[in-house]
Amino acid sequence: MATVDFRVGERPHITVDSDTCRSCTTRECVTACPANLFAPTSDGGILFNYEECFECGTCYLVCNTDGAIHWTYPDGGHGVVFHHG
Ligand code: SF4
Ligand code: SF4
Repeated sequence: MATVDFRVGERPHITVDSDTCRSCTTRECVTACPANLFAPTSDGGILFNYEECFECGTCYLVCNTDGAIHWTYPDGGHGVVFHHG
């Protein structure tokens, strides 16, 4: 487990559901993220390094798997902000 030092209210928190990613074969996020924060793991999941994320939104746009990426704004009163339509 990675250590998460997240100060509530400071910035949105992006979470990636590695279990969902396990069934993803296209892995758009890995090549699309300009900061290279998505790394495929040997067990077929995805390792996401949130701490260097600058929240450009690209990963969310390119990911075609519903529920894989969640953006959460702790200040906003509700959790998941974006939904695939
Ligand atoms: S975040 Fe989306 S594109 Fe990336 S591995 Fe997971 S399901 Fe696939
Ligand atoms: S929001 Fe941008 S920098 Fe952050 S993980 Fe997604 S693609 Fe990478």
